[in-house]
Amino acid sequence: MAEVAFHEIGKVFPDGTVAVEDFTCTVADGEFMVLVGPSGCGKTTALRIVAGLEQPTTGAIAIGGTVVNGVPPRARDVAMVFQSYALYPHKTVEENLSFGLKMHKVPKEQAAERVKQVSDLLALTELLDRRPGQLSGGQRQRVAMGRALARSPKAFLLDEPLSNLDAQLRTQLRAELKQIHQKFPTTSIYVTHDQIEAMTLGDRIAVMNEGRLLQLGTPNEIYRSPRTLFVAGFIGSPPMNLLQAVASGGEVRAGELTFALPGAPDGELVIGLRPEALRLEGSEDEPTAPVRVEVVEALGHEVVLHGSLRAQQASSQRADRSGLAPLDADRANLVMRFPAGRAVAVGDVVPLRFSARDVHVFDAATGDAVRVGSERAAV
Ligand code: ATP
Repeated sequence: MAEVAFHEIGKVFPDGTVAVEDFTCTVADGEFMVLVGPSGCGKTTALRIVAGLEQPTTGAIAIGGTVVNGVPPRARDVAMVFQSYALYPHKTVEENLSFGLKMHKVPKEQAAERVKQVSDLLALTELLDRRPGQLSGGQRQRVAMGRALARSPKAFLLDEPLSNLDAQLRTQLRAELKQIHQKFPTTSIYVTHDQIEAMTLGDRIAVMNEGRLLQLGTPNEIYRSPRTLFVAGFIGSPPMNLLQAVASGGEVRAGELTFALPGAPDGELVIGLRPEALRLEGSEDEPTAPVRVEVVEALGHEVVLHGSLRAQQASSQRADRSGLAPLDADRANLVMRFPAGRAVAVGDVVPLRFSARDVHVFDAATGDAVRVGSERAAV
């Protein structure tokens, strides 16, 4: 196990594409770090730089305190798990698990003991004689993880390892991965575009966009205190509600919604409200505005309500998860979630309530957070 440090890493591909820019981040020994961001943000390139599959154009990458720029992948003692399992099709599960150990000349007995340990842990013992073609997708991915684990590498590098699996299996393997890391706290760097995976797996999360590191912190820190509009919109499911607003003398106006927010800077702003910060009832002194109920999703334990308000939606650039498109140009969508029990029907007009303390405020021009909401974290 070892610390992995990125120091001012930059990567420009020969065709001029800037994939990673000025990326600095230290993954502590035994830490599980998730690099998360939209497609093309440079997370895979950052991971491949650790593996030695790409050379950085600028900066230094260090594993266990030693700079490894120029060191070939095999000499780095890191193990990588990809989205495609890349198992040897003609080898049995046991041979696949022990292959890396053999390559690294681990004594036979020690290798057998290690394979046993890993196959017990991953529930593969019954499958040791099978070939990959005789396994389900989830079992194959477990073998791929087991093969990487068996080697006890200095660092474990995972590139979207669960994205080929169906939703149920993904949830199950996500929990298993967490357990494995608790038992064997190997330094891990996990790349995903799925913010739920990032929130559930990461000791810390590095949110990236356009090659840059936007924010680094624990899942709670990132959820509660997003430093930019992009991070606010990217982390959280359903995402934070974002409305265009104007503030003057401590009063904020977002369409039909007007409320006092002492300290809000004058000018054009974006206000953000997490779905769980919104309620259908509250005290008379709380902000309120009429919300038209558009869609009701009854999930059993909670209700997710999609409503609309006369106001202008703001964008966090998150094209992939923006939810319903506004039905009217002068209305903005709002997503609320609350415990089941309250009857609401499509077409109802209900009073939106929230506490002004829970409002996140961003500068409309720069996207930088100027005020962080105080709602409790969801995790
Ligand atoms: P995804 O989730 O889609 O895999 P990513 O965040 O992992 O995306 P990267 O694969 O790191 O992104 O790519 C970052 C940028 O670098 C993208 O614009 C990509 O098109 C570009 N890129 C990646 N590899 C090369 C290459 N060999 N030559 C040129 N550009 C590349």
